[in-house]
Amino acid sequence: MLFCRDGAPDTLTVRGARVLDPVAGIDAALDVTVEDGIVTRLEPAAEAARGLLLAPAFVDPHVHLRTPGREDEETVASGTEAAAAGGYCAIVAMPNTDPVVDSAAVLGALVELARSEAVVPTGFMASISKGLLGEELTEMGELAALGAVAFTDDGHPVGCAGLMQRALQYSAVAGRKLALHEEERSLSRDGQMHEGAVSAELGLAGWPAVAESSMIARDVHLAAYEQQALHIMHVSAAASVEVVRAARARGVAVTAEVTPHHLCLSDDSVRSLDTNLKMNPPLREQSDRAALLEALRDGTICCVATDHAPHARQEKDVPFEEAPFGVTGLETAFAALYTHLVVAGALPLETLLERMSAGPARAFGLPVPRIALGERANLVLLDLEAEWRVAERGFRSRSANSWLLGQTLRGAVVKTVADGRVVHAL
Ligand SMILES: [Zn+2]
Ligand SMILES: [Zn+2]
Repeated sequence: MLFCRDGAPDTLTVRGARVLDPVAGIDAALDVTVEDGIVTRLEPAAEAARGLLLAPAFVDPHVHLRTPGREDEETVASGTEAAAAGGYCAIVAMPNTDPVVDSAAVLGALVELARSEAVVPTGFMASISKGLLGEELTEMGELAALGAVAFTDDGHPVGCAGLMQRALQYSAVAGRKLALHEEERSLSRDGQMHEGAVSAELGLAGWPAVAESSMIARDVHLAAYEQQALHIMHVSAAASVEVVRAARARGVAVTAEVTPHHLCLSDDSVRSLDTNLKMNPPLREQSDRAALLEALRDGTICCVATDHAPHARQEKDVPFEEAPFGVTGLETAFAALYTHLVVAGALPLETLLERMSAGPARAFGLPVPRIALGERANLVLLDLEAEWRVAERGFRSRSANSWLLGQTLRGAVVKTVADGRVVHAL
């Protein structure tokens, strides 16, 4: 399900880093040797290297590569270079491109592109409905056979409950999950930001949390009825967390993801009217943020996903109401979460590492990166003491619509090894 350009595996030794693998149960200063892409030696370090941490590399289940159609904003090459710089060994791209990834022809062309350009292993979701129109299902069996990781209409909700029910049935036959953008459009309408005190103060149209939580409730009931698994994308609201938690407690196989921006920010920051704070779903209240964080800690939300959504500068360089939704995130996710949550004492480092790697891999049946003898090397080397300023010119992504521009962050990705190859080195 993951595709990447060919290349020779690498041989390297990382000396003295604190090796932290929550899945393998390792937390020790080790010298780690990789030979021809395989971890061959884990030995106690002669000398500990200050600030360096070696962990299983990250997996991002929600990335917009904008290809085909908007290669000015991102390509498979630039997006996967950004992923490598962010410490990722695998990413999954969304199908809301132009044309939409709703046919064997479009998916097949993307797979070929990934085989020639992708710097890190890349998977593709195909759409649930043809043209993302929410009317007719795609040929899920054929798309799964070609390598579709899952199905999603991301960017759009599946409005019709009957279509959702059939999508659950057909995706199950195809052996793939549905990943859902949950938004009841008759409630969110043309909302520009979270509906609350701040939207009232700014006079902006609101997109209320209930538009998300009510749709999630519908879909977990359908998943339970069909006895199928389901993945909820970019959960943003406390009420949504409650729906997911209750469904999981009843035994519904529902997984969920949360973005770095929803974990770090609230709608208070939208007062700046910075268009890089405009995303869908919108930033919500401090109480929502606290609930998301608690859900990430207790495993109700098992993945961090960036929802990396590149936009051209001229598209975001307009009044807030006219700007498109979305922010980039691949190159800043770890440092943002490390700085704003781990250093701040709100999230254990181990939990963050698990939710950025094993959590998303398991949710989509992708290989779980592990640091163990005989395993293919999928490693991220982090300097936890490094400080760096997020600056527009430093991005590998073709777009720079980051909410972190100008911020100084702690924690830098020094090296990324993906599928046995060094794909990024500072
Ligand atoms: Zn979405
Ligand atoms: Zn998205």
